Amino acid sequence: MNEHDTERMLRLLEEVHYAETKNAREADFVLINTCSVREKPEHKVYSALGRYKWLKEKRGAIIGVAGCVAQQEGTRLLDQIPYLDLVIGTHAIPMLPQLLTKIEASGERICETAYDQGGEYLKAVLPQKPPDKVKSYVTIMQGCDHFCSFCIVPYVRGREKSRPSREIVEEVKQLAGMGLKEVCLLGQNVNGYGRGLEQEISFSELLERINDIEGIERIRFTTSHPKDLSEELIRAFSKLPKLCEHIHLPFQSGSNKILKAMHRGYTKESYLEKIHRLKKVCPSIALTADVIVGFPGEEEKDFEETLDLLQQVRFDDLFSFKYSQRKGTRAVEFEDKVEEQVKQERLSFLQEMQKRITLEKNQECEGRVEEVLVEGRSKQSSQDVAGRARSNKIVNFGGDLNLVGRLIPVQITKAYAHSLRGEIALPQCRLQNINCEMKFSKPAT
Ligand code: SAM
Ligand code: SF4
Repeated sequence: MNEHDTERMLRLLEEVHYAETKNAREADFVLINTCSVREKPEHKVYSALGRYKWLKEKRGAIIGVAGCVAQQEGTRLLDQIPYLDLVIGTHAIPMLPQLLTKIEASGERICETAYDQGGEYLKAVLPQKPPDKVKSYVTIMQGCDHFCSFCIVPYVRGREKSRPSREIVEEVKQLAGMGLKEVCLLGQNVNGYGRGLEQEISFSELLERINDIEGIERIRFTTSHPKDLSEELIRAFSKLPKLCEHIHLPFQSGSNKILKAMHRGYTKESYLEKIHRLKKVCPSIALTADVIVGFPGEEEKDFEETLDLLQQVRFDDLFSFKYSQRKGTRAVEFEDKVEEQVKQERLSFLQEMQKRITLEKNQECEGRVEEVLVEGRSKQSSQDVAGRARSNKIVNFGGDLNLVGRLIPVQITKAYAHSLRGEIALPQCRLQNINCEMKFSKPAT
């Protein structure tokens, strides 16, 4: 979500004639977009600000902080950092051009962190010319009403709010018109899409409407909350040809005691049941998730439940975090905090286990033909291009940049820890301008 917000801010800045520079020495304006989900990224903000102080002194650059830390700290940031000019919260992004113009004209130091009740902050900011890429995020909702006991998001992104479906469909059509092939629908809990809208449609219905848009070849979404994952959405994986067979479904812990303390609203068993349904409806589905270790009260046996869940599901990949205490959340008050060293040991053990599973899951792809949407030059070799399979796994293979934006069938020859390697599956695909796109049939429900 932050990545997408950064993109939106860059586009808004173009309106007031700013262009992105890769060289900080040339910058007239530095805006640090921030995350406060865990302590570490929050601390990085202060060191980043320290790094740009000289730009203010030498060039008179305007320095700003955006995002969740800005929302959370507000004027305290202006008080602490005397060379900071702008603090802009999560709902104030559309105001960026006016605020910047005001600072340029008056030298005023500004903090804008009010929550916008109208929904202006959810509106699309489209690129002025077709972007140099094949896929884009599309915000469908923001904020969260769940208040998991560890999480800062509801306090820094506000209450859950969905965008009207016609605005979303219009944005996707425009992106398709610019040549983009894939959209990833974004929200803290996309399964809850539609709640509170006047003409309410479900998330699955929204997916159906996007599936009908010509030019868009692939649809993804993130993130889903296990509690709200409906049967209708599970069935969408077998029904909608453009919906990629991948779901990110954070489970956070395998222990029912910890899930309850986290206020997650599901049990290990009900989570496993949903995974079972997903695998039944769509056997090729790739599964990824988030997990937290060392939540207050987590004993060895709770951690073992988490490891058991990992082994039962066999995720394709996993984002794993040590519990990080966030000021203002309910878990701050919880007793039985887990020692840092224990947290670290558990995290390392879990990550080693997942590393083996991920490699094994990648190895299962060897010999298969995967449909790859080519995104650009491979980071590994100038002879190769890279893209993503429908499972979201990175695939590198020999090919020219004229394949960018095309769906290419690639036979997987070797699996690695973080990517797959392959070769074009059909000889005729090597010839330019020959349509070598391949449609995959969906398993029957
Ligand atoms: N809405 C998503 C959900 O409910 O699954 C999660 C969004 S959250 C911004 C992304 C991930 O950050 C979470 O799934 C969780 O694993 C991690 N996270 C959030 N708060 C955390 C904390 N206090 N300590 C460690 N990890 C945390
Ligand atoms: Fe945070 Fe996700 Fe829970 Fe909302 S549902 S409070 S975003 S972890």
